[in-house]
Amino acid sequence: MEMLNSINNIKVAKFFKLNEFACPCCKKVMLHPKLLAKLFELRNILERPIIVNSGYRCPKYNQEVGGVVSSYHCIGLAADITVKDIELITLLEICENLDFNGIGFYEKRHFLHLDVRPTKRARWMG
Ligand SMILES: [Zn+2]
Ligand SMILES: [Zn+2]
Repeated sequence: MEMLNSINNIKVAKFFKLNEFACPCCKKVMLHPKLLAKLFELRNILERPIIVNSGYRCPKYNQEVGGVVSSYHCIGLAADITVKDIELITLLEICENLDFNGIGFYEKRHFLHLDVRPTKRARWMG
């Protein structure tokens, strides 16, 4: 239905639309301005598109994809991203410099988890 396709089709910053962060199962979305601001900074440095593989997840969807129960995806503080034509390790270095509080390095599946958790820094490999 066309009306539904327009849900969250709202530009929230240059290069980013709200629907890119919405839960794929229910289209609900939470997005913290700090996460958006950091992704915007990253986008400007990279000068190429950031593909948001997973932004907000409702608890049901989070469970389906095997996310941890208290996932920062469920409160709008996290995004899993892919960027084409750049080594994942290079992308990681750039994100370290931007000081995302949480960074997960998923080499095999070729994406980074980035979050703006309010607690101390966390780094892991998936
Ligand atoms: Zn959902
Ligand atoms: Zn993630």
